[in-house]
Amino acid sequence: MSEHLERCPACGEPKRQPFLVAKDWLVSQESFSLEQCAACGLVFTNPRPGEDEIGRYYQSDAYVSHTDTKKGLINMAYQLVRNRTLRQKRQLIEHLAGSPATLLDVGCATGHFLAECAAHGWQVQGTEPDPGARALAAAKGLAVVPAVFDLPADKRYKVITMWHVLEHVHQLNDTLHRLFEALEPGGHIAIAVPNRISADAVRYGAGWAAYDVPRHLYHFDPDALRRLMVRHGFVAQGRKPMVFDAFYVSMLSERNRGGSLLAALRAGLDSNRKARTSGQYSSLIHLFTKP
Ligand SMILES: [Zn+2]
Repeated sequence: MSEHLERCPACGEPKRQPFLVAKDWLVSQESFSLEQCAACGLVFTNPRPGEDEIGRYYQSDAYVSHTDTKKGLINMAYQLVRNRTLRQKRQLIEHLAGSPATLLDVGCATGHFLAECAAHGWQVQGTEPDPGARALAAAKGLAVVPAVFDLPADKRYKVITMWHVLEHVHQLNDTLHRLFEALEPGGHIAIAVPNRISADAVRYGAGWAAYDVPRHLYHFDPDALRRLMVRHGFVAQGRKPMVFDAFYVSMLSERNRGGSLLAALRAGLDSNRKARTSGQYSSLIHLFTKP
């Protein structure tokens, strides 16, 4: 069943405005409306597929994070930089935690990040709703449950990560409430999401590939995400850029409109250059702590 939200999924405000209409280029070729909350500024997909029917919008070989596929130029680029970014992400959380500790990776897909961390002394736990991806993670010897609500009630983690996951989660407030409980006091949570006010988002407009409807239910800007997290009790700790995302998203956006690889390269460079002064990178890792 498709869900029509009468209220903002973050703050509950009923007043909202049309934002834009985006297309699902990857799987269904259907169009979806985005709306913006009049109170907290969050942009969200509305109406959206319900939790019971969204699975079919992930049924694609192109959905690279679920399949480990190496088909096609863009997927090859994704795989090439992945090992480097996995190491950088691990080093980031080791810097936050001081030394390897307990890690919960929410939406761990096939478990590459957890495997990287486990190999460097972390005690790891994952969650992943997709059964196929979860099976691939389990085959790597990783502990993975379907959802955060399936974790032991009394277990606490020093670090929680969500790498391009929060924008996919139907139960936004329930999930963040559960994650606040699951985080140790003094622990850290790192949330990577696309940034809808980045220069590449502005350049491509409704054709920006990181709208990725209807899989992306929310289209965060840094302020809307910070407001949401603060309401759940987290304390903002800073942001880190993800510079490869400007190129990756520009490649996908150019492919959707029949543009060239060179155009994508230029768009990616331009986005990162502007972000060096504005801070508005294509994707950001948002860091928060639990006091
Ligand atoms: Zn709102």
